[in-house]
Amino acid sequence: MKAVVELEGVTKEYPGGVVAVRGVSLSVEYGEVAAIVGPSGSGKSTMLHLIGTLDRPSAGVVRIDGYDVAALSDRQLSALRARRIGFVFQQFHLANGQSALDNVADGLLYAGVPLKERKRRAEAALDRVGLAHRLDHMPHELSGGERQRVAIARAVAGEPALLLADEPTGNLDSASGGGVMALLRELHASGTTVLVITHDHDIAASLPRQVSMLDGRWSEWRRCSPLPGSARATCCGSAVPG
Ligand code: ADP
Repeated sequence: MKAVVELEGVTKEYPGGVVAVRGVSLSVEYGEVAAIVGPSGSGKSTMLHLIGTLDRPSAGVVRIDGYDVAALSDRQLSALRARRIGFVFQQFHLANGQSALDNVADGLLYAGVPLKERKRRAEAALDRVGLAHRLDHMPHELSGGERQRVAIARAVAGEPALLLADEPTGNLDSASGGGVMALLRELHASGTTVLVITHDHDIAASLPRQVSMLDGRWSEWRRCSPLPGSARATCCGSAVPG
């Protein structure tokens, strides 16, 4: 089994008749890094909800980590989400009264990890994101970039099959945002599968694969080769949907 995300002819129609995602078929392999990019209203959040198993499609098949979402009960879906998907959001969503270590350790509660092991893994995850020296800091004692690193540590502490990052730099200045993107690329280099949802074409272009959304339809670009000496990717390969 190679694909962690498989969408086959996926359509999402909301009550009232808005079709937010139209017949999307794509797969993301274990170990890949990619962006889902598009302007506001293009269907990105709907894709995030479908891939994150927070919502079910109106038509088509969504398979995550090999599981057909339609075949799972709500309880089984929650378990799949807790154990196999790490989420990172624009607003960090950290608990204010808790240290960085406790924020990350609590992220493992729903995966059924015992307390001592939760703390051990949380410490290792904070070390991995470069925050070994901030374990006891409260969120308000951390910079925006550091808070997002804590959120990323929480998301990867359980070693998910997929890290889903929704506008992860949206609340950060460009230097901190660049640091967060560098961290996501590092995590990818060490084996984590990463999907970044963004409206920002520069961020998308810093990744080797882009799924572009527009009015619920998709198209895809893959980087064939980086421009020598340039931080910006060249996109020279495209796949036509369907
Ligand atoms: P994006 O994240 O790219 O801004 P969305 O997936 O949020 O796009 O929205 C795609 C389309 O679906 C938009 O036209 C939006 O208004 C509509 N939409 C999103 N969520 C709902 C909902 N819960 N009910 C009805 N329409 C929705």
